[in-house]
Amino acid sequence: MSTGFDVVVVGAGPGGMAAATVAAEAGRRVCVLDDNAAPGGQIWRGFRAETARKYPHGRGFLDWTARFERAGCAIWAGWRAIDQPAPGFLRLERDGEKCDVGFGRLILATGARERFLPFPGWTLPGVMGAGGLQALVKGGLDPKGKRVALAGSGPLLLAVAAGLQSAGARIVGIYEQAPLVRLAGFGLTLLGQPGKLAEGARYRLKTRHAAYKTGCWVVQAEGRGRVEQVTVTDGRKQWKLDCDWLACGFHLVPNLELPRLLGCRIVRGYVAVDRLQQSSMAGVACVGELTGIGGLEKALVEGQIAGWAAAGREAEARALTPKRQRLQRFALRMDRAFALRPELRTLARAETVVCRCEDVAQSALEGCAGWREARLHTRCGMGACQGRVCGAAAEFLFGWESSGARPPVFPATVSTLAAEADAPQTARR
Ligand SMILES: Cc1cc2nc3c(=O)[nH]c(=O)nc-3n(C[C@H](O)[C@H](O)[C@H](O)COP(=O)(O)OP(=O)(O)OC[C@H]3O[C@@H](n4cnc5c(N)ncnc54)[C@H](O)[C@@H]3O)c2cc1C
Repeated sequence: MSTGFDVVVVGAGPGGMAAATVAAEAGRRVCVLDDNAAPGGQIWRGFRAETARKYPHGRGFLDWTARFERAGCAIWAGWRAIDQPAPGFLRLERDGEKCDVGFGRLILATGARERFLPFPGWTLPGVMGAGGLQALVKGGLDPKGKRVALAGSGPLLLAVAAGLQSAGARIVGIYEQAPLVRLAGFGLTLLGQPGKLAEGARYRLKTRHAAYKTGCWVVQAEGRGRVEQVTVTDGRKQWKLDCDWLACGFHLVPNLELPRLLGCRIVRGYVAVDRLQQSSMAGVACVGELTGIGGLEKALVEGQIAGWAAAGREAEARALTPKRQRLQRFALRMDRAFALRPELRTLARAETVVCRCEDVAQSALEGCAGWREARLHTRCGMGACQGRVCGAAAEFLFGWESSGARPPVFPATVSTLAAEADAPQTARR
């Protein structure tokens, strides 16, 4: 093969690590790249071998990390895939340095991010993404004694609250927008998956001193220069809470920029894949959160399927089909359980900023017919985050379909952009 690697995996979270490991174990030359300094993705971020056992999912981290390291893949840390300069090549950037990597098969495992919705005060200092705050704490931010309110939707709220509580924060309340009846139905479907029920119960036990209110959402954050108080509602009455931090996130949305750029078919917000995780583009597989928000186990199983398939070992891949189907059903049920209530569309006022990079208020977007018009007339989605934050919000608020991805899918330096016309080079190992 004339290109750099038999298999290139983008994303070194659990899905990417599993894919790279099994493909390398099957004898393929594999490169796995990630824009973070170390493998682990979101859930295993900042885990270290010495302390991992203390955390939920620590055992899985230790097992997979050991196997991943033994498999002998090339690990390119800090590199971000930003473009496809020619078929069979990806363009990467790291700290202003660029290179192109060639592949025979490509596995995308780029994970998900939090969805934020605009409400008055959401841009105040001290209002953070729930997962973002979790990442800061894992990175060394000390939450001791801080009063933290959590609001939004999804199981991440409870997981983050438990982690913050363990690190010394004082949780003043957890506000889940989904109604109790939907969550109870979801809980019943988990009876066959005691591991997941036990995980939820552990988190709740840890945070038992704080209220966990369903059918409630935040309508406003206020404070002089930073958040000091939030207003919460159950749709009938409103009440205020004092807090130092508000951690907010409305479930997760997949990072679809690369699959979109490569032309993979997207159906109902996720990449459409077959039983071997192959997308509609030949030689491109997608795994983990890209194919449905389903958590760690789903990412690991789908990663293994894609890795085996990339190595031509279909029998091993197919043996995992029943597990994959069960986990995909779980992802579907989770999407239904945490579906956003229509009231959340009315939280932003005319002056509430929707696109923080370009300072675009709700009123400027209301007359727009879609993304294209919003971009052209207001610059919404054209700032540093390239619509990663406001895109998912606008999709929910206005029902706009994404207008597709244009290269570079992440902001890049001028020298990388200027090199766009060069012929791709095979990347160094
Ligand atoms: C902020 C956040 C916090 C979370 N915390 C928890 C938790 O506490 N408990 C829990 O059970 N679940 C948590 N989850 C869910 C968890 O991420 C998933 O269950 C699981 O990690 C999915 O694995 P994955 O391999 O699909 O993706 P991820 O683990 O998200 O890994 C994807 C990786 O790809 C990298 N990447 C993306 N695009 C590119 C690119 N273009 N170039 C290079 N690298 C790229 C990302 O930086 C990331 O490292 C969290 C999710 C998020 C978004």
